[in-house]
This record gives sequence, structure tokens and C-alpha cells, in this order.
Amino acid sequence: MDDAERAEHHEQMARDFALSLRKPVPVRRGRCMSCGKALEPELIYCDRDCLIDHEKAIAARMRNGK
Ligand SMILES: [Zn+2]
Repeated sequence: MDDAERAEHHEQMARDFALSLRKPVPVRRGRCMSCGKALEPELIYCDRDCLIDHEKAIAARMRNGK
């Protein structure tokens, strides 16, 4: 996977994430939104696992009404 493909992959993850919440989400780039690890400036997750973990955490929070 080259850099352009990788950036596109992460854009797709960001879109998937926003869609999963069905509302606009403030996206903070350059740091994993799941585990907080520092990343390249355009990235928001280390990998798909962090995306999934973060979606699960948010879904759990929403189920709890917070
Ligand atoms: Zn992470």
C-alpha cells in the first residue's frame, strides 16, 4: 500500500466513523481517536482495530444515554 492509498484508506475510515454515528463528528487528526497514540497528521486511527474499538466505545456511551 503506497502513501496515497494509505491516506485514502484513512479517509474512508473517517467517513465510516462519521456515518456510524449518523451525525457530524469533530475529528482530531494526527492522533488516534481510540488509543491516543501520535500519528501522521492526516490520520485519525492507527488501524482498523482502533477504528472498531472506538466505534464500539462510542456506541456503548450512546446506549448509556451519554
Ligand atoms: Zn490507536
